[in-house]
Order: sequence, then structure tokens, then C-alpha cells
Amino acid sequence: MKYQSTRGKVSQLTFKQAVMMGLASDGGLLLPESIPDVSQCLPEFKNLTYAQLAYEVMSLYITDIEESELKAIINKSYATFSHPDIVPLRTIGDINILELFHGPTLAFKDVALQFLGNVFEHILKESGSRVNILGATSGDTGSAAIAGVRGKDNIDVYIMFPEGKTSPLQELQMTSVLDANVHNIGINGSFDDCQSLLKTIFSDLEFKDSYQLAAVNSVNWARVLAQVVYYFSAYNQLGQPKKFDVCVPTGNFGNVLAGYIAKQMGLPIARLIIATNSNDILARFFRTGIYERGDVNFTHSPAMDIQVASNFERYLFYKLDQNADKLTEFMKKFSETGRAELRFNSERFDRDFVAASVSNEETIQTVKKYYETFNYLVDPHTAVGISVAEKVIDADVPLVCLSTAHPAKFNDVMAQALPSVEVTHPSLEVLKGRETRKIVMDADIEAIKSLIKETQ
Ligand SMILES: *Cc1c(COP(=O)(O)O)cnc(C)c1O
Repeated sequence: MKYQSTRGKVSQLTFKQAVMMGLASDGGLLLPESIPDVSQCLPEFKNLTYAQLAYEVMSLYITDIEESELKAIINKSYATFSHPDIVPLRTIGDINILELFHGPTLAFKDVALQFLGNVFEHILKESGSRVNILGATSGDTGSAAIAGVRGKDNIDVYIMFPEGKTSPLQELQMTSVLDANVHNIGINGSFDDCQSLLKTIFSDLEFKDSYQLAAVNSVNWARVLAQVVYYFSAYNQLGQPKKFDVCVPTGNFGNVLAGYIAKQMGLPIARLIIATNSNDILARFFRTGIYERGDVNFTHSPAMDIQVASNFERYLFYKLDQNADKLTEFMKKFSETGRAELRFNSERFDRDFVAASVSNEETIQTVKKYYETFNYLVDPHTAVGISVAEKVIDADVPLVCLSTAHPAKFNDVMAQALPSVEVTHPSLEVLKGRETRKIVMDADIEAIKSLIKETQ
């Protein structure tokens, strides 16, 4: 399998090259040249373990890592999960909840970042080179990326977060990791400042090349690919129904894009239901075809407080019949004016998708309701998904809602919804009082670059 950029100026990459490149060097995102159809193989997938299923799905897209090596990477990646089914499906009332939070940092990002960390390690061992991973986080991505590469040879990881603005527990999940290759950087500024530092440093191609910078955000294809697998697992755990709906709490469109790829592979997903908080650029787009930037609101589901969804470009590429020129034009218009539009003829323009947004108040009400009715604790991001799922559920089609985090990670919002309930998780409790390490710096590009240089 070869990889190409959505902007048309990069092609013929192998999987390993695509992983190391992260963002395509022409500014686009990397995608496989074709999407294999596995609809005839679904019955054979039925009784596979999660790791076996992951191998069957991922090996279609990874043709430059040997079978035994790829199997070892996959096994190692999911051995760190605390549940034997890796992503267990629970039926709660009318909804099936796919719990994606049993990895080391208790959010679904572990499913992809445990795998990506091991893929990096494999590639570097083979080539004898090293990388510096640079990332920006408002919370979940940073800790999952650190957990994916801590202690690994030939990798240093630098994670920037807005000093004093991530939740205390999320910060502790990062700064309590004391391995020598982990560098936590509290930036005096906002999350946007961290992201803009990241962008500027990555766009300095000379620096990027001389220091072998690599990316772990969800533009990396390996992350999307690892997430495709759990849509197949949900289907198996449902008993392989004729068709099913999936509801996805959405921020950067990475998770739901993986579902869209799974659907194109022949998995019988009827509808992909996009649930957003009041940052509803995607919900508006799927109603009107207009993609228009708004201001970022701070909500009870902070990992979804995103206006411009980085993976949306991959979806658009397919909608524009894989025409890189049309796509480039759309993205250029959007970046210049903050608005771009897809023309459509039918009354609803993409029948594969349904989208809706949810207020803070509804989020809290849903957390309460699921506890009081079913004695089940859902985190605020999952609650956004469930609120939308309840509104659009079709009685004849099983519905799966993805649960993206363990509720203990967001104990402040949980306390607002359920003041008398203590929401904890043992792997967070053990961190309290641990020794921590971080560097606090101003949002200064040269200072960050010097830090990277000095710590080689
Ligand atoms: C990252 C994250 C999301 C959003 O996922 P995307 O792939 O960006 O759409 C939702 N919930 C939680 C808990 C997250 O950490």
C-alpha cells in the first residue's frame, strides 16, 4: 500500500515514510491510495481477539513491516490495557457503549498512541536513527503520547501545555513521568499559543530536518488506522448485525474519520452520528454544507473545544472525488476568509452522517440521568455523545456510542453533576503526591528550539 497527500504534491510513500512524515510536506494530509473492501471477510473476523482483528485490518495498510514484527508491535500495544476485551461493549438502556478508556491514561487516545509509540520504536531500531517528538496538548493527547514513548531508546518527547490551564489531574499524568526522555513544558500562555509555537517550529523545515522532529497529533495516519479497528470490534461484539449506527463525540474529526474509513471498507455502518458541544462548526457543516470558523467556547467537554478540525480535510478529499486541486482551493478559501462551501443537490447533503450539538446543561443532565437510572458513570465527553444518540436513535438499528474517557479524568465536571458521588480511578489515585518534573517557559520559539538542542 502506498500513501499520497490530499494536496497532490506527495505520493508513493510507504507506510513507514508516511508515519515519519506526519503532516505531508506539501501541507496536506496523507491517505492510502485506495481503501480495501473487506465486506466478504467479515464472518471470518467474528471470533478474533482484539489483537488478531487489529492485525487483519492494519496489515492491509501496512505492507512494509513483516508479519511477525507487526504482530509483535500490536500485541505489545494492547498488553498495557487493563480490560481483557481491550474495548468492551456495555449495553446501558437502549444504547451500547464502547468503552475506549481502559488504556494507561484512561482516554481513547491510548488506543492509537500506544501503537504509534511502538511503531516509532520499531522504525528507529531498524534505521538506526532517532527522533524528537514535539506536541502541544490541552490535556489528553499529551499524557497519552508520553505513555506511548516513555523510556524508549532513540526518542525524546517534548510536550507543551498551557501552564496552569490544564486540569490538575491531567497535568499530574504528564509531569509525574520522570523518564529521562520525557520533557514537559508548561508555557506561559494559552493552548492556542502552544499550537502556534508547534506550527511555527514545524514550518522551519531546516530545523525540522536537522533535529528529526516527528508529530503525534491526529494528522498522523497511524493514529487514524489504529482507531479503525475498534469499529470492527464493536460490530463483532454486537454479534455482527445487518447494520448499526455509531455516535462519536467529536473534536478534531479523527475518531469519526476512522469510522468513515471503516464504512468505506464495507463495515455495515448505517449512520455516523457526530456529536459536538457548543463548538459546532461540524454540526453546522453537515446541516448546510458551509464550513465556517467561529470563536472557541470553553465547555464541560474541553477535549472537544475545537473550531477547526484538522482531520476534516481527509473527509473533504473523498467528498471532492479525490481531486487535490479542488481540495486545495477549498482549504485556501477557508484559511483566507474563514468560510468555504460545498455545493450539494439533495435535501441533506451527506446521507452517511447526522450531526448535532449539545449544551453544557444537557451534558450535566445526561451524566445525572445515566447515574440515577442505570448506576453508570459517563464522562462529560461521552455524555455529549449519548445526548445526541438518544435524540436520533432508530428503534430497529442497534446504536453504539463511543465512550472516549474514564469519568475520573474529569472529576471537576463530575462533581458538578453528582456532588455526592466520589468519582475516582486507582491509576489516578496513585499519582497524587508523586514527585513531578516540568520546565516552565515563555511562548518563545527560540527558547523552545534551544531546549531541544541542549537536551540532545
Ligand atoms: C481527543 C478527545 C476527543 C475528541 O476526539 P477527536 O478525534 O479529536 O474528534 C473526545 N473526547 C476525549 C475524552 C478526548 O480526549
